[in-house]
Amino acid sequence: MDDSHAVVVGAGIGGLSAALALHRHGWRVTVLERAPEMREVGAGLSLMANAVRALDALGLGPALRRGGHGEAPGGMRDRHGRWLSRVEAAEMIRQLGTTALGVHRATLHRTLREALPASSLHTSATVEHVESGPDSAEVRYQGPDGPHTVTADLVVGADGLRSRVRAQLWPQHPGPVYAGSTTWRAAIAFPYPIPAAITWGPGAEFGMVPIGDGQLYWYGALNAPPGGHAPDELAAVREHFGDWHAPIPALLAATPPDVVLRNDIHHLAEPLPSYVRGRVALLGDAAHPMTPNLGQGAGQAIEDAVVLGAVCAGGAGHVPVALAAYDEQRRPRSQSVARASYVAGRFGQQLHNPVAFAMRTVALRLIPSRLALRSMARYADWRPPAV
Ligand SMILES: Cc1cc2nc3c(=O)[nH]c(=O)nc-3n(C[C@H](O)[C@H](O)[C@H](O)COP(=O)(O)OP(=O)(O)OC[C@H]3O[C@@H](n4cnc5c(N)ncnc54)[C@H](O)[C@@H]3O)c2cc1C
Repeated sequence: MDDSHAVVVGAGIGGLSAALALHRHGWRVTVLERAPEMREVGAGLSLMANAVRALDALGLGPALRRGGHGEAPGGMRDRHGRWLSRVEAAEMIRQLGTTALGVHRATLHRTLREALPASSLHTSATVEHVESGPDSAEVRYQGPDGPHTVTADLVVGADGLRSRVRAQLWPQHPGPVYAGSTTWRAAIAFPYPIPAAITWGPGAEFGMVPIGDGQLYWYGALNAPPGGHAPDELAAVREHFGDWHAPIPALLAATPPDVVLRNDIHHLAEPLPSYVRGRVALLGDAAHPMTPNLGQGAGQAIEDAVVLGAVCAGGAGHVPVALAAYDEQRRPRSQSVARASYVAGRFGQQLHNPVAFAMRTVALRLIPSRLALRSMARYADWRPPAV
């Protein structure tokens, strides 16, 4: 292929996946990351079958299966620990061809990074301006040694929730809004076998996911006003979840206070009219930040990357057609997953009305696990395009 060159703005899971997908199709990639070092902030991740398949398409499935933990069996519980619905591993594999995967974010990030040429990754590089012309696009950024301008055949805006690229290309768009919940999360050493599970209380949810190598990821989510912070976030988690069923108190007891992260949850209430402007494409949270209720944000970013790589396989000469195909393939799916995730949150973690809560508990007990899995499979049953 001719020297097709892409600049990727942001080295999160989405940006690195995009860089890798393009690199595997023969593109030269330049990744610009504003942080002074390449790393992923955060605890663990659930990667559903679609994300695992997308990672297979990037050639990383085997390494991540070794580095993570096959996430089944599991299910939903009430705060006393009674199972409301269970997901059987065999049934999940039968319907989706794979279990989900629990993985440490740092493991996924490192695996993506190591698959890219080190010379393509640039830190302390804050992108300030992106402009698309008919034949190329231009990116201006502040590097560690001053301002730079770089031209490319394609620019990928993978700069996350507060995307500067999105704000610049869609200045009228209102941007992300608070979804009504705050979350705490941590990855801890917890070398005891426990099933992945989600527990619901009124307006609250606690999740636990084994992530391999004797580690476990837990999160707690709660309806709350935005912008809250506690002097001791672990104490705040204990206050809300400390008397929930075993092993939740033991997980909190095994958590060092300084590893607890707290984030308010935001999403795009108004979906973008396009993910593409000229030779610039948005990807991941820059395009479709979503609530975490379906565990799909990173999965959708990795899917975006795989599709972007596939449509750009013909090189720089085909970018406008390729990006039109990218928008057509990715926008409807990722926006419908984002919508479904928000609704899942409203009827899941955020439900606090006592009557509705009791009715949901009864309904969940009555649903056979086969049907519960089928509703999950609706979004997890995605396959990468054949190239
Ligand atoms: C509590 C919580 C739990 C979640 N759980 C799951 C889960 O279980 N499964 C799942 O699939 N998803 C989950 N998600 C969603 C997932 O974390 C995100 O969708 C995913 O990490 C988005 O990746 P990204 O690369 O698009 O964005 P980001 O990770 O935000 O990366 C953007 C990168 O761009 C850089 N950047 C920003 N601006 C600039 C600039 N101007 N110049 C250069 N660099 C810039 C940033 O420093 C950052 O490195 C969860 C999210 C939350 C909040």
